[in-house]
Amino acid sequence: MNDERDAESPPAPPSTRAARGAPVDALSGGYHSPERLSAGERYLPSARATPRQARSLREWETRPRILVTNDDGIESRGLLMLKQALEPIGDVYILAPETNQSAVGHSMTFMRPLRVRERVLDDGSAGWSVDGSPTDAVSLAFLGYFGVGFDLVASGINYGANLGDDITYSGTVGAAMEAVLSGCPAFAMSQESSAEADFDLARQVAALVARNILEHGLGPGELLNVNVPSVSAEELVGIELTRMGKRVYQDQLLERLDPRGTPYYWFGGPPPSGLAEPGTDFHAVVNGRVAITPIQLDLTARRLLERIKGWDWQLDLESEGSPETDEVMAGAIDQGHEAS
Ligand code: MN
Repeated sequence: MNDERDAESPPAPPSTRAARGAPVDALSGGYHSPERLSAGERYLPSARATPRQARSLREWETRPRILVTNDDGIESRGLLMLKQALEPIGDVYILAPETNQSAVGHSMTFMRPLRVRERVLDDGSAGWSVDGSPTDAVSLAFLGYFGVGFDLVASGINYGANLGDDITYSGTVGAAMEAVLSGCPAFAMSQESSAEADFDLARQVAALVARNILEHGLGPGELLNVNVPSVSAEELVGIELTRMGKRVYQDQLLERLDPRGTPYYWFGGPPPSGLAEPGTDFHAVVNGRVAITPIQLDLTARRLLERIKGWDWQLDLESEGSPETDEVMAGAIDQGHEAS
């Protein structure tokens, strides 16, 4: 049957097949053709972000819908604190990882199914957990698990700061990145570690950040990364708008032996430090200020883009070299020189 169809029409190019959800290659994840659904299977209608005009909260006709997630897991007190901080502002839905997913970054589960469970949070309200990553939680919500879209995603409150280079590991920030990829504004909230985590200040900051984002909006690919110092509201020096700082990691590889004598490994060593340059998130937090860092998903290194235009990009093609292509490429590089 497939042979007949293939004989009649040439195979669609990979891009078209990908758009239709058909398999492109074995490494492209769980893509699966809608025609091949079995009894009991269905694709949920997706519920991407419901973008509204950013405006004063008093002018919203309905309450904003806010998805709250984290990477520390559904049982984390920081998650509950974030939910309670945002409840006066909007209708809060909780969908968070079942277990601690710290430092999983922006990972997404493709090679096994996901299970979602309804849970009762410590305040008696309902929440949902998924046996996956923070990005899985956000993807479930935006691909239709609740059947509604969201106006804002808040991720946290993480136990421990996510400063500078930490954001490349952070599951807290990864969840916010996933929201932004779905077209929904988002922020990540982290609380600097302290003996007893007191979330009073972080709750007030979370509400302030949420109101600001709902009222002013964020551009495509933009999110806010918020870090709260371990000080009381009275001790707070202020709120600083910062840039990403530079972390200094002090990781060491610890080797131990299992009961069978085979070595295994832990990443250990002292906690990371950082370069306390004024204007950075790290500098702000170590000086008792809340750091609010705008982040963008466009990771293009613009200075490097200019610099590599001066490198040699001619392929040394022996047989199939097309002089036309070489000229076009050389032209593009020369234009680059003129522009710089
Ligand atoms: Mn965490």
